[in-house]
Amino acid sequence: MSDSRPLLRPRVLLWLPLLLAAVCWGVPAAGAALRVEARGVEPFVLEAAITENSTAWYDAEGWLRQFPGEVTWDAGSGRLSYRDGGSWVVLAAHEPYVLRNGLPLPDALPVRRGEGGLLVSEAFLRRTGPVLLGRDLRLVAAADRERRRVVVDAGHGGESGSRGDAGGGTVLEKDVVLELALTTAEELRRSGFAVHLTRSGDHSIAAEKRAAVANYWGAELFVSFHAAGQERPQARGFEVFVAPAPDPSLAADRWQAGQAGQAAASRRWAAALRATLGSALVTFDRGVVEIPSPLLEAVACPAALVEVGTLAWPGDAEALTTPQGRKRIAAAVVAAAEQYFSAPSE
Ligand SMILES: [Zn+2]
Repeated sequence: MSDSRPLLRPRVLLWLPLLLAAVCWGVPAAGAALRVEARGVEPFVLEAAITENSTAWYDAEGWLRQFPGEVTWDAGSGRLSYRDGGSWVVLAAHEPYVLRNGLPLPDALPVRRGEGGLLVSEAFLRRTGPVLLGRDLRLVAAADRERRRVVVDAGHGGESGSRGDAGGGTVLEKDVVLELALTTAEELRRSGFAVHLTRSGDHSIAAEKRAAVANYWGAELFVSFHAAGQERPQARGFEVFVAPAPDPSLAADRWQAGQAGQAAASRRWAAALRATLGSALVTFDRGVVEIPSPLLEAVACPAALVEVGTLAWPGDAEALTTPQGRKRIAAAVVAAAEQYFSAPSE
């Protein structure tokens, strides 16, 4: 699974100007106005109430008032109710965030308390909103809106990578993960993310270059796809890897220090991936594991490597080698990214 090649310091120096460029760019704040379209109501625009850690939050009451029905805010209990015909929804800034007809809405994204009401994120409007309202919503970002940047890395390429024949004929890891990366990029873009691929063809790229591409582009999340093969016939299911927390005594310009300050965020990202993949895949969950990795250690944003399954086990073949399987995995990664960005900041 690993693109393990020792990193040489001179190579790092080569990329340093690019890393510095990424730092100087800064990370623009995401989100402001969102245009919302839904059947039966006039399109309307929501302005962000606040933007924090570049996540935009919108006034939940102002949003619900755009739809037919009755909205009631109770400042005492901190609950916002919405009644429409026979259905009744309650929002609160603690779990369960959403009750629908008295029952917690599964997988509702967090709601938070704002000045004089409750706030919901764009991810909430996209994912939880349609379920809550029982209607399709289309959210269109304002043209000038900066998007969240995600780098999707398809492992291997060229000569490297494993193989397996559980699905019938022999399949190569490098091909499986590239297809998966392309599908994931498409789904992420469809959900409003800006996406960069480290490779979109069959060529080998050094680990440090993959990391430098992500860092130069100012990635805010990084995911690398791999699959186990015949070399790990005992492997079953999926596994998420993160780099060990870097040694604090490392000089800041050393490549191993890429994860400095990111260790907790990478674990949060890995946990989100594990949770959504666990829901999307009917297979074994091998958990989140720390692994020394020249790739992950050099990436300067929350970074995880997912071994999505094993090509040598028939139980994983469908998920890895069919378009439906890839779509399920891609949707899980989108859901994890949305969860990651909409979680309340610590
Ligand atoms: Zn691999």
